[in-house]
Amino acid sequence: MAGNKIINLVLLGPPGAGKGTQAKRLIERYPLVHLSSGDILRAERSAGTELGQAVKEYMDAGKLVPDELVTEVVINRIKKELTEGRGVLLDGFPRTERQAKDLDAELDKIDYKIDGVIDLDLPVELIVERMAGRRSCPQCGRVYHLQANPPEEDNLCDECKVELIQRPDDKEDVVRKRIDIYEEQTAPLREYYKNKGILYTVDASATIDEITENIIRIIDRLLEN
Ligand code: AMP
Repeated sequence: MAGNKIINLVLLGPPGAGKGTQAKRLIERYPLVHLSSGDILRAERSAGTELGQAVKEYMDAGKLVPDELVTEVVINRIKKELTEGRGVLLDGFPRTERQAKDLDAELDKIDYKIDGVIDLDLPVELIVERMAGRRSCPQCGRVYHLQANPPEEDNLCDECKVELIQRPDDKEDVVRKRIDIYEEQTAPLREYYKNKGILYTVDASATIDEITENIIRIIDRLLEN
């Protein structure tokens, strides 16, 4: 990264837009830490914590976990990375205006801010189509796509060699509910960040490589400023 500039980015976009896939590629190129709120919550569930128990029902139904359950745990992780000198690439957080405002307020206290929001734009019809092919590793959480991003060996995670599954919240009826929730609660964040002048929209119907290239161009510009 140019000099030692620390930047913080948010990946915004509906389920299936490729936030996790792009995040994994971007952290190979930039010294950013990928923080996925979904992964953080899934880890709490696997560890059987109280929080994990509390969020299970919402997650499996494709509903948003209440702000008071998710905000604190995610913001604490963000602060930890920043105090250790690393910028973050947020994936799945914030998802409501309340979360975005709390995040801004907490970052402001430690003299940081969100520098750019990459908005992965994908039409609803394409979301449903994409989610049907999505498979995840039940062990490490890595996400594959049967057509766009298949594993090396049929239906096995490249790293864990564990059989891939379709997450309960990736089933079509749940996906449709998640899209409605996205439109209602998360899409308004585009306006929120646009008003701050930090929203960068990328066409997420392009290929994975093209999307990565477009995001790289945006990040490089942010780093130059
Ligand atoms: P994801 O892996 O980002 O699709 O998240 C999976 C699920 O975790 C979501 O459908 C929500 O139930 C929950 N979740 C993740 N991030 C958040 C968030 N920022 N706010 C509320 N719920 C969240």
